[in-house]
Amino acid sequence: MKETFDVAVVGAGPAGISAACVLADAGIKTIVLERGEYPGAKNLSGGVLYGHDLAQVLPDYEDRGCPIERNIVESRVWYLSKEGGYSIGYRDSIFSGERKHNAFTVGRARFDRWYAEQARKKGALVVPSTVVIDLLRDERGFVKGVVTGREEGEVRAKVTLLADGVNSPLAARTGFRPEVKPEHVALSVKEVIELSPEVIEQRFGVSGEDGVTIEVMGLVTGGMTGVAVIYTNRNTLSLCIGAYLADFARHKLRPYDLMESFKQHPMVAPLIAGGEPREYIAHWLAEGGYDTIPKLYGDGYLIAGDSAMLFNAPHREGNNLAMASGKMAAETVIEALRLNDFSRKALASYGERLATSYVMKDMKKYRRFGRFLHQHGEIFNELPGLASLAARELITVNGVSKRAKQRSVFRRIRREMPVTRILRLLWDAWRATN
Ligand SMILES: Cc1cc2nc3c(=O)[nH]c(=O)nc-3n(C[C@H](O)[C@H](O)[C@H](O)COP(=O)(O)OP(=O)(O)OC[C@H]3O[C@@H](n4cnc5c(N)ncnc54)[C@H](O)[C@@H]3O)c2cc1C
Repeated sequence: MKETFDVAVVGAGPAGISAACVLADAGIKTIVLERGEYPGAKNLSGGVLYGHDLAQVLPDYEDRGCPIERNIVESRVWYLSKEGGYSIGYRDSIFSGERKHNAFTVGRARFDRWYAEQARKKGALVVPSTVVIDLLRDERGFVKGVVTGREEGEVRAKVTLLADGVNSPLAARTGFRPEVKPEHVALSVKEVIELSPEVIEQRFGVSGEDGVTIEVMGLVTGGMTGVAVIYTNRNTLSLCIGAYLADFARHKLRPYDLMESFKQHPMVAPLIAGGEPREYIAHWLAEGGYDTIPKLYGDGYLIAGDSAMLFNAPHREGNNLAMASGKMAAETVIEALRLNDFSRKALASYGERLATSYVMKDMKKYRRFGRFLHQHGEIFNELPGLASLAARELITVNGVSKRAKQRSVFRRIRREMPVTRILRLLWDAWRATN
């Protein structure tokens, strides 16, 4: 390509398109290169998006026809043993009123396509079916654009934004990010199951456009460190289950088998009964946390979103961090263009922007979380069964006194888990989340 751009963005996911919208709004000549046949083609999954960060980029996203599936009014958490489990949830009418669209579900294939279309309308050039295979550099090592797999595939740009997601060899190959390690990424599989909107509303106790999310932990991940989720879309449910890549290798379990047994769990099966499977995908999640965040900028380039390992694992937030970091990267570039300086020093304000925002504050807050989960395998092994035993015994009315039941439950717990281990778990849990 002979033309030179102000900015080349690699990847048309939430990070790249957020950046492209902000840049195009400022009249900056921007090209977005996407390997998929269309934006979202490689993201065939449902997920939760957050209105706040989308509105920072597109305040009128509702009027622009954002393809919202359901507005989330209730968040549930399940802790499951083999036969049953605990369920807590929080529902609040504020999420259908004043804080509507705090969180909502989308089908990423539709959403990404729509989002990229908004960037295009603002003036960004979005080019699908184009794989970026390398970066262009000058003799000083400054990044000067990208090399694509197309004929005459060089695209020159003053600044390059890597927003190519977690599963991209590009950041690693160019030396900007260390090779992703199996203990820093989760492998997640997702199945989308079709049901009528009426059935979904009845089973989840919602009506109209409202929806529910369920985050699941316990024995469902086969003793591996991981989580599952169930999200309600308009006429589908997204089921997702995953664990650290390192655990899959160690436990010799197949993601497909994990999903099958999750679907048969007595608390899950009734929710999906009669549904038709529609999509099945596998994807990586950037679960390495704060300590795996690479250097986020250098001479002529910035990194945003999953590519920068910005994923808040305990809260399952990635799309919002991608949008926020994409926007901050764009604001930094706008400043750099004004000064006509694209050096590492000029782009350093990106790091400052992120550091003072909720993005890095949250990443820092949970920096010990991954290690905590790895160190406390009992959360996914012994504990779910013991927790279920306690509830089952106390609920069962069989002529045995409650005190006698309590004693027997404590005896069993003490036998299987020393008190010191429980105290250690509680202490480490507090430290990992504070
Ligand atoms: C199963 C699953 C469920 C999830 N659920 C949620 C959720 O409910 N809520 C939430 O907030 N987060 C969720 N996440 C995380 C969230 O999807 C990510 O954090 C988010 O997509 C990151 O956005 P991104 O733009 O950085 O990367 P991506 O969305 O991965 O986008 C990167 C884009 O770059 C393109 N690309 C990659 N390499 C190249 C290349 N070399 N050349 C050209 N194009 C390239 C890709 O095709 C892709 O379109 C989930 C993740 C998974 C895997």
